[in-house]
Amino acid sequence: MSHPPRAALLPGATLGVMGGGQLGRMFVHAAQRLGYFTAVLDPDATSPAGRVSHHHLHADYLDTPALAELARLADAVTTEFENVPAQALAQLAALRPVAPGGEAVAIAQDRALEKAHFTRCGVPCAPHALIETPDQLAAVGDALLPGILKTARLGYDGKGQARVATRAELARAWDAVRHVPCVLEKMLPLADEISVVVARGADGEMVNLPVQRNLHRGGILAVTEVVDGLVDPTLAAQAVAATRAVAEGLAYVGVLCVEFFVLEGGALVVNEMAPRPHNSGHWSLDGSDLSQFDLQVRTLAGLPLVPPRQHSPAIMLNLLGDLWFPSGTSTDAQTGVHFGANSAPPSGISATREPNWSAVLALPGAHLHLYGKTEARPGRKMGHLTLTGPDAQSLRGTALDACDILGIERF
Ligand code: ATP
Ligand code: MG
Repeated sequence: MSHPPRAALLPGATLGVMGGGQLGRMFVHAAQRLGYFTAVLDPDATSPAGRVSHHHLHADYLDTPALAELARLADAVTTEFENVPAQALAQLAALRPVAPGGEAVAIAQDRALEKAHFTRCGVPCAPHALIETPDQLAAVGDALLPGILKTARLGYDGKGQARVATRAELARAWDAVRHVPCVLEKMLPLADEISVVVARGADGEMVNLPVQRNLHRGGILAVTEVVDGLVDPTLAAQAVAATRAVAEGLAYVGVLCVEFFVLEGGALVVNEMAPRPHNSGHWSLDGSDLSQFDLQVRTLAGLPLVPPRQHSPAIMLNLLGDLWFPSGTSTDAQTGVHFGANSAPPSGISATREPNWSAVLALPGAHLHLYGKTEARPGRKMGHLTLTGPDAQSLRGTALDACDILGIERF
């Protein structure tokens, strides 16, 4: 699983990315700023990254000619989401350097393999059981209830999860997902959630961003705070060491984020990992001298890694599609709002609004990022707002002002 060091790809080369969402878009921005050309493969012709990339192949992730074309255009390829089929990464890897490698992505795609990897690395995870067969369902111990049933694959933003208090609810929840392989996790008493982003080069050099404190609402990240003193230093050091061990154990090349639970009582438990930049690291675009996307470019291109330096305390607020629906109107996830430079909102949908960006941008230290998505839907990540400030107290005040302006619940 080791990746031999290779010569650096210098600016002027072309960097490819599998996936055209907002993470791909921010990778493209970082690569282009350094003078790279970029190529994106994504089936959606209007994907956020495809719209800003030099090359955009709109094709399925398993489209063999498109993968060959991506390998022809790009000198190296990364990924912006963990559900890229392993087969696609294998096809690319036969032709070009691919980072992270297919083995690491395959582990991150599957909660059961992921938990086994954490355990191998000596990092404790939540008590859990694998449920793939009716016998395994019947054998679940009462100690795991109440718990959360999570599909082993393809979950994100709390999707593919059900909270279950009883064995009957557990059985119904497994029926509802048509008996796909699942992991049942014990529901833990959370005091806090934190995450760590590391970047590891092909030569084994590793750097990390400071520990991030995360608030989730409805299974979706809502707020990330990166402010001195918010996380106990011993705990923070433990989380960084655990994240580095997880990356080392995978012989990982690229940017990796590990999410943790802090339990009431102070114990640290790993939740999951993402083999790519992570929503909780977006603050680094504005609060750090190197962002997680800069680090992704450097690891892919084989450029030197230097430790990022946070220069300002930062708070990131996710901007979900809900903000386009005034409170009390549609929260139906099926209802979408189309808009964009060339398309006015359809006249039939009256209960929508554009968030008050002018008021937000009048706040000191406000950095607005919108991903160029053409349809707002409740729960959909449309952008994020990072506030940076001179000190923790004034920063928090500004972030709460931003919440009030946008209609985000205060934290
Ligand atoms: P992501 O978008 O981060 O990939 P996901 O769909 O993979 O999300 P998880 O990270 O597994 O979901 O869970 C989402 C949130 O649900 C967690 O951040 C946490 O707030 C809560 N949660 C998940 N598992 C547990 C648990 N075992 N005990 C208590 N809360 C949990
Ligand atoms: Mg998560």
